[in-house]
Amino acid sequence: MSMRMELGLLMAATLLCATVSGTMTALNGSSSLPLAGIEYGNGIPERFDETQLWRIYNITDAMQQSIPVGQVMEQKFGGNIWKENSKFLDISIGKEHVKAARSFLDAHRLESEVLSGNVQELIDAEQLDGINSTLSLPGSRIKKASRSGSSGMHWKDYHDLETIYAFMREVRAKFPDIARLYTIGQTAEGRDIKVLRISENPREYKKIWIDGGIHAREWISPATVTYILYHLMSKWETQPKYLREKTWYFLCVMNPDGYVYSRTVNRLWRKNRSPSRRANCFGVDLNRNFDIGWNGYGSSTNPCSDTYRGTSPASEQETKVVAEFLAKRKHNLDAYLTYHSYGQMVVYPWAYKAVKVKDANVLQRVANTAVDRIAQKTGTSYRASVTHEVLGIAGGGSDDWSRAALGVQYVYTIELRDRGTYGFVLPPKYIKDTALEGWIVADAVAQAIA
Ligand SMILES: [Zn+2]
Repeated sequence: MSMRMELGLLMAATLLCATVSGTMTALNGSSSLPLAGIEYGNGIPERFDETQLWRIYNITDAMQQSIPVGQVMEQKFGGNIWKENSKFLDISIGKEHVKAARSFLDAHRLESEVLSGNVQELIDAEQLDGINSTLSLPGSRIKKASRSGSSGMHWKDYHDLETIYAFMREVRAKFPDIARLYTIGQTAEGRDIKVLRISENPREYKKIWIDGGIHAREWISPATVTYILYHLMSKWETQPKYLREKTWYFLCVMNPDGYVYSRTVNRLWRKNRSPSRRANCFGVDLNRNFDIGWNGYGSSTNPCSDTYRGTSPASEQETKVVAEFLAKRKHNLDAYLTYHSYGQMVVYPWAYKAVKVKDANVLQRVANTAVDRIAQKTGTSYRASVTHEVLGIAGGGSDDWSRAALGVQYVYTIELRDRGTYGFVLPPKYIKDTALEGWIVADAVAQAIA
């Protein structure tokens, strides 16, 4: 399959001018909580001028019990948690809260480091890098993906949802005998949730599920999942047996509403976009909404929080339709791979409790293989581990759910690049190598299943 390297969108215009479709609410002036999950406006892109990104170290367990640092900083200083694990907390703080937040850290003798003094500069640089790296491509930037023919897909820049869906249709059109495109449901804002299946023998072959974009701001994730699809199909006829004799499922964007919102209004948006009981707070963290340890650690009951778990397990359409789709296909379902960023890790269950799965040695071994191959190929260092040890305990995750509810053996969450230099705002020049690292994991898992 020849992929036309053609640019199909004007990302700058999308980011700067577009208004968001879907639900809009008036600003509720009665709330004084500066939470990151609060809806501020009317579709005008939010700016992060002089917002600082901090890494806070040495948050001891004892302190976490009495003062949950991330939660306090989220609620008191409008902090936006980027990453929380056993070693550190990455959190961005708006310029108006920097002084008070600094005093809070000092008062509690918490060590910290400024990863970025201006998050808006990271966002601007990401955008500029995408523009520069696509200048040499043929075709107009303003050209939109057409419903037929070439999708204009490439991996020199991040793409809008439309282009990603056009790419999925393009693959289906090029492989009509083995590709099937499902619309498995719709989001709260009415967008389709699409899964592409590739299989020469869906009844017999072992199944591998791959999803991306469950968290909106992790743009490298859909970019990687589309790349894995491209890499698999671009030389399908000559792929080894262990790749061809599998049934592959690709859900490139599990959270389409959130993804569009992150591209048009708030670059740092994480959740989906469903309305809540709090008029100005939107969104559920889909990776806290699955029916496994849902009521436990690592999620919030506050609709304004970035880790809001929702009103019940699978309360969200995205969660519900994915769970139903997979439950119907659990026969032969041997792998569940879910791509996130950032941290450079390949991790396996459990996340909802501090216990390893009984075959952890098998999962560790395959993860080690993938990690070694990545180091050889791109020189990037990934860590293979059980989830709770490196990311802390959190319930409601899709990875744990696929193991607990469906008995999938090879369950991996892949935290792609980087380790905090750019965080979610990874410049487009790193997409290709990062996506290749994602492919290496999928390939190693497919080989292990053979
Ligand atoms: Zn994530």
